[in-house]
Amino acid sequence: MTRFDAIVIGAGVNGLVAAALLARRGKKVCLIEAARHAGGMAGLRPGEGPALAHLVHNLSPAVRRDLGLGRDWPFALTPLATVALAEDGRHVVVDGPNAKLADGTAHPFAAAHAALTERLTRYGALLRNMAETAPPGGGMSGIAMMRQGLRFARTGLSLRAMGKPEMRRFLQVLLSNAYDLILDEMSDGPLAGLWTADAVRGAALGPRSPGTVFSLIYRMGHGGIVSRPEGGMEAVIAALEEAGRKAGCTLRTDTRVARILTEGDRVTGVATEAGEILSAQVVLSSAAPLTTARLTGLDHFDIEATRRLRNLRARGTVAKVNLKLARAPALPGVDLASARMVFAPSAEYVETAFNPSKYGEMSEAPVIEAVMPDPGAASPWLSLLVQYAPADLDGGWTAAARDRLAQIATRTLARALPDLPGLVTSAEVMTPDQIGAATGGPGGHWHQAELTFDQMLTLRPGNGMGHYAFGPSGLYLCGAATHPGGDVMGLSGRNAALRALEDRA
Ligand SMILES: Cc1cc2nc3c(=O)[nH]c(=O)nc-3n(C[C@H](O)[C@H](O)[C@H](O)COP(=O)(O)OP(=O)(O)OC[C@H]3O[C@@H](n4cnc5c(N)ncnc54)[C@H](O)[C@@H]3O)c2cc1C
Repeated sequence: MTRFDAIVIGAGVNGLVAAALLARRGKKVCLIEAARHAGGMAGLRPGEGPALAHLVHNLSPAVRRDLGLGRDWPFALTPLATVALAEDGRHVVVDGPNAKLADGTAHPFAAAHAALTERLTRYGALLRNMAETAPPGGGMSGIAMMRQGLRFARTGLSLRAMGKPEMRRFLQVLLSNAYDLILDEMSDGPLAGLWTADAVRGAALGPRSPGTVFSLIYRMGHGGIVSRPEGGMEAVIAALEEAGRKAGCTLRTDTRVARILTEGDRVTGVATEAGEILSAQVVLSSAAPLTTARLTGLDHFDIEATRRLRNLRARGTVAKVNLKLARAPALPGVDLASARMVFAPSAEYVETAFNPSKYGEMSEAPVIEAVMPDPGAASPWLSLLVQYAPADLDGGWTAAARDRLAQIATRTLARALPDLPGLVTSAEVMTPDQIGAATGGPGGHWHQAELTFDQMLTLRPGNGMGHYAFGPSGLYLCGAATHPGGDVMGLSGRNAALRALEDRA
């Protein structure tokens, strides 16, 4: 038997962050990953091409600070402008608050775009404050409870400081849908399409679904800046791995946890599939909540909790398509090598793209985000996130269905990049069912569980489970299914590790 202070299950972004943080605080930590490599969902690769996750939206500075990584991340991040692709060639280039047409002329809604960016970034800063802490309650120690209460009180004060009319406006938009919010500010077109596509990225929701403004504001917490990690997502994962290694954390890949061990109502360690027993009084799991409960034994959870876990909504809708190109595509007046391209020519288009997924069908005209992770290469890859491609496709994701998705994606992008089809030399596809099978994440969902009002903050992943502690004493959830959710961000792992440390202080 090998003894540790803490065991972390799963070396995705959140498991890596949780393990490194615990190790930096002096704990003897073992991080166990079923796959051959660390990285989880973010690092999955459909073939030779780029990993699933291709952009960094909101890697948290709080994570960087807590992992002792200094002022800068130990990898290069290139901020990218976004090109909202248009079928008529009137592409919109968006760089933070600035929006202009690709030919350099002013966009008719440039002022509205700037004002919206400023307002949502300000609101986003309020939510970021909440994202960087565990929701208060859930059996926290008195001091921890006071600290969390203070943070939330600070959020309340910032809200008050906005003044009554602005606060009323904030609370009003928070509960509304992205479609109405955006089209109140500008007429429909590629710029509105871009805003609404960003609001529903990764979700099984359309821009008219309630609560989509909340997720948009969440993403604006870091100013809505998107960056390309140079060296691909592998560089981000390697840096997190190295932070853990430096702090003395043991990483065991190719090792699957078969059971979480308990004595009475206390966690005592884990048993691997190979039959090895590793002991620890603290176990953090970044596997999905129901998977974690099953590994522990459902008798540790009451019937109501088990029912909630079974009913968690997690239906993946985003597929990855990598296109190998003979050369980079070109658009007059646009530097595609330094751009995130988004094909969502209108808010109406995004809503229409969502509709077939409700009935288990893939969209024939999907929303696409495209990036060139290696623009300098002689024959570069174009990395696409294609939404909506539902995990539970009617008839299943056969090889023919995957081929069709690649064709649809190419054909759709060609509406704005006419030379693209002639440049594609090969394609690789990874659909949500494959993502789920590879990581254990239900439905291959971007956030392990949908980020909606009934599954966020203290209700994430479910009512009564919103504080990371999960079932028997010493067990914690630390994956994207917990507050504040997924993305390559690491806050779920960080908050869970801090909670575990506080409980044992
Ligand atoms: C197609 C797609 C594209 C995306 N692109 C981006 C992007 O560009 N930018 C961005 O910010 N976010 C992106 N995301 C979201 C982001 O990748 C995820 O939210 C994030 O990686 C989740 O990390 P996690 O650590 O919580 O979970 P996971 O990555 O799912 O990690 C859980 C880990 O636990 C392991 N595990 C499970 N069970 C066991 C067990 N019994 N024993 C041992 N190990 C186990 C799994 O193998 C896995 O490695 C994308 C998601 C998808 C689906």
